[in-house]
Amino acid sequence: MKVEFTDDKVNIMKTALDQWGLAAQVGQTVEECAELIVALQKYINRTPSPDALENITDEIADVEMMLAQMRLVFGIDDNTLRKQIEYKFEKLKKYLLNDEINIKKITKYTSDLESEAAAVAALADEIWREHFTPIIGSL
Ligand SMILES: [Mg+2]
Repeated sequence: MKVEFTDDKVNIMKTALDQWGLAAQVGQTVEECAELIVALQKYINRTPSPDALENITDEIADVEMMLAQMRLVFGIDDNTLRKQIEYKFEKLKKYLLNDEINIKKITKYTSDLESEAAAVAALADEIWREHFTPIIGSL
């Protein structure tokens, strides 16, 4: 999952910023984010289709390009962004590991498995009694 912009593409983005200016490009970023929101919402609300997935991919491409331009506008370099992403991942990891809901999910899953195992054992016992008791009983 790595999207990189070559120097050639960075130059194109710089040209776009020079051509249309900061306010227009910030506005375009907002617009592209909104288009991605709509594409994702359509995917959720309607029967998923190849067109919907294609639309999401298209909008993600637009948003990625605009976010790259916003990094140029606000001077956010790779190292700064990488650090912030690391921080966010650590927060997410802690949240996932400590969250009460996840503990409940894990507990419920374990409980479901135990219930399922008990149900399978009861069924096996029932099958045993139904099919083999007459045979054993007749011996
Ligand atoms: Mg778009």
